Amino acid sequence: MSDQYDVVVIGGGPGGYVAAIRAAQLGLKTACVEARETLGGTCLNVGCIPSKALLHTSERYAELQHDMAEQGIKVSKAEIDVATMMARKDKVVQELTGGIAFLFKKNKVDHVKGFGSIPKPGEVAVKLNAGGEQTLQAKNIIIATGSESTPLPGVEVDEKRIVSSTGAIALDRVPKRMIVIGAGVIGLELGSVWSRLGAEVEVVEFLDRILPGMDAEICKQTQRILAKQGLKFHLGAKVTGAKANKSGVTLDVEPVKGGDAEQLKADIVLLAIGRRPYTEGLGLDALGVRKDNRGFIRVNEHFETGVPGVYAIGDCVPGPMLAHKAEDEGAICAEIIAGQSGHIDHNLVPGVVYTWPEVAGVGKTEEQLKEDGVDYKVGKFPFSANSRARCTGETDGVVKILADARTDKVLGCHIVGPLAGDLLAEAVLAMEFGGTAEDIARTSHSHPGMGEAVKEAALAVHGRPIHI
Ligand SMILES: Cc1cc2nc3c(=O)[nH]c(=O)nc-3n(C[C@H](O)[C@H](O)[C@H](O)COP(=O)(O)OP(=O)(O)OC[C@H]3O[C@@H](n4cnc5c(N)ncnc54)[C@H](O)[C@@H]3O)c2cc1C
Repeated sequence: MSDQYDVVVIGGGPGGYVAAIRAAQLGLKTACVEARETLGGTCLNVGCIPSKALLHTSERYAELQHDMAEQGIKVSKAEIDVATMMARKDKVVQELTGGIAFLFKKNKVDHVKGFGSIPKPGEVAVKLNAGGEQTLQAKNIIIATGSESTPLPGVEVDEKRIVSSTGAIALDRVPKRMIVIGAGVIGLELGSVWSRLGAEVEVVEFLDRILPGMDAEICKQTQRILAKQGLKFHLGAKVTGAKANKSGVTLDVEPVKGGDAEQLKADIVLLAIGRRPYTEGLGLDALGVRKDNRGFIRVNEHFETGVPGVYAIGDCVPGPMLAHKAEDEGAICAEIIAGQSGHIDHNLVPGVVYTWPEVAGVGKTEEQLKEDGVDYKVGKFPFSANSRARCTGETDGVVKILADARTDKVLGCHIVGPLAGDLLAEAVLAMEFGGTAEDIARTSHSHPGMGEAVKEAALAVHGRPIHI
């Protein structure tokens, strides 16, 4: 393998591998340096994919236990075999990470297994996993080193009793009691998995609401639905310390507003208070690459770091820490390097929580519009009035569309309900095209479909929903 490249990408996650494949498609000689043995980064190895595989299995299990009898399906006794569930999850991960290796071969991207650093512009030094070092000359370097879970002082993760998401997707048995620190996306998804499988799950959250950043009204409904499913919430509560021993973990918790501290006990504690950019060992300070006060690499809208030929994308730069955002940035960055143009609007990156029902949002929340002083209209439609949701029995939730009061342009769409993540796609597309609520309302939606709830919410923006 020649060590002279047009593009060297450091990090083989969704940002890095997409950047590498796109660069190669554009005729650039490309290598991707990845410290893990497998490609796919956090997302494929320990993030999106394994968590969704477990969400799927636990959802089917919960369905068998709670939703079959009323449909006349008799199930004598459903049991969960954790080892088989985990083996299936591992197989899904293995197949998908192997798929990226195949795509690298197909596109002639060189996969360098090792830890990369940037001693100077135009050069990437790799400590090879197999031993030894290799230096790659690179006209362009893309940093795509992603993120890691944020630690909490006083709560030491041992991945046995006190686990991060990585430990929580690999437990060997269903805990009797689990405490999740953090009511964000990861905490609620993995809390749901173990709750459905039989654990008593309590969620401790510093803020007085769940899913910070998402539309507050939608989140309130989500909390009610999850509480009905058995999740217990302690909001406005601060974890100040944790002690783990063989039998479990004791957490010290106190109200954020002041008041009596209490101790909560659990077999497993999941620390899920967010993720932070990971740029250790790259040599960024010496190179002159600047970071903001939260550790994200500073880039302009072309992903340039300010050091000639050095770009950064994905979770290690500002914006939503999501796989599809990293992928889009990877493709755009490669296209810019190849002399093309492109940009990403972070306001139009959808966010989805894969609980059941799902929670999904794009664009501005109602709180943001109020804060920005925007004159807006709201249209809402509940799934309880949607005929398809009636057929499937999935009537919890609502679609909410926010549109500019003067122009009718869609400014935001927020959904809690069945398949919310997929339903949101039409709102994302409408917003990308500068569409209006009227555009969505006038679009034909097949019947009976969950999508009709989106159409009706758009009609409701103008006060003319039909089915409510
Ligand atoms: C439990 C969990 C569930 C998630 N679910 C979702 C979801 O459903 N949907 C969604 O959109 N997002 C989800 N995410 C977030 C998603 O995983 C990230 O946003 C995404 O992986 C970011 O991609 P990236 O390429 O920027 O970084 P990463 O995927 O973190 O990849 C970075 C890679 O760089 C490698 N690396 C780091 N430093 C070096 C170095 N110096 N040399 C060589 N290699 C290096 C790392 O080993 C890693 O493989 C989830 C995350 C977690 C933890």
